[in-house]
Amino acid sequence: MQLYNKLSALERAELIEKAGKDRLTLSFYQYAKIENPQEFRDQLFIVWDQLDVLGRIYVATEGINGQLSLPADRFSEFKSHLDTIDFLKDIRLNIAVEQDNMSFLKLKVKVRNKIVADGLNDDTFDVTNKGVHVAADKFNELIEDENTVLVDMRNHYESEIGHFKNAITPDVDTFRESLDIIEDDLKDHKEDKNLVMYCTGGIRCEKASAYFKHKGFKNVFQLEGGIIEYTRQIKEDGLENKFIGKNFVFDERRAEKISDDVIACCHQCGAPADIHTNCANDACHLLFIQCDSCKEEMNNCCSNNCKEIHALPFEEQKALRKGQANSNDIFKKGRADHLPFKKDLRNIFETLKK
Ligand SMILES: [Zn+2]
Ligand SMILES: [Zn+2]
Repeated sequence: MQLYNKLSALERAELIEKAGKDRLTLSFYQYAKIENPQEFRDQLFIVWDQLDVLGRIYVATEGINGQLSLPADRFSEFKSHLDTIDFLKDIRLNIAVEQDNMSFLKLKVKVRNKIVADGLNDDTFDVTNKGVHVAADKFNELIEDENTVLVDMRNHYESEIGHFKNAITPDVDTFRESLDIIEDDLKDHKEDKNLVMYCTGGIRCEKASAYFKHKGFKNVFQLEGGIIEYTRQIKEDGLENKFIGKNFVFDERRAEKISDDVIACCHQCGAPADIHTNCANDACHLLFIQCDSCKEEMNNCCSNNCKEIHALPFEEQKALRKGQANSNDIFKKGRADHLPFKKDLRNIFETLKK
């Protein structure tokens, strides 16, 4: 029995093209006790592979976190299968705002220690004592309240291209880092302010809200379903959209456009731009924002050095890489001294102190 992805991204893309069917991109998560994650994982793979599901799914003893795509006409079968699983029955599925048939090209179901790498020791606080979940209408109201501090729980490369108006956007590479920064900056307001938080799909706020309550914050709120679900509700109910720019997503689409504003700039020339790319030099892969004209001039590379290496014959590039540690941690590397227009978001906390 096949339990792992076998096709290359290219082979898969050709199959999707040939099938000519619309695919649906969606995400969901659930914290639940899973006794045997490996067995659960294998069962999911067998069923989902037959349904032509593609995506990245993490399974742990604490639950499941999935981002995936599937043929739109198999959605009801997929939903029926979820409903056969106790803790996934009637689960909210975050349907992507912008659809793209190529959002995922492989099915990867992985067993992990945790469904989000949050760096927290869950034994030290009550993870079930979460903040109040608010829907889009209530969220819009709350963030206009002068007693509210609105915090973006995502990383710097995410909030750089889009965030809620007036949100604090910590300049961090990891979720864990942002927790300490936020706590420290708000330590005098644990009781008198509303701490309102949001993230992409809601999952990071599940832990963050419990953590901040444990740290003594009294009025903790979290955006239900994150930016993805907010956008859906805004459209469906005709509410005012308070999110500016793009929502960064972790698949081939990279981002969904929520408003027409371009709030970031090209890291190389400073022109307005908000398209993330990875440096074309395979030994670098730096994640950064590049405008179309720099892309052309730099051959999709982040520096002249990378451009030179990228222009070498493949075998020579390979020889150069030999013995060097592979830089697979591309998001962590989303900063570099040679990118003069990479924004420093750190000073954003200053707005609070005014
Ligand atoms: Zn540029
Ligand atoms: Zn590079």
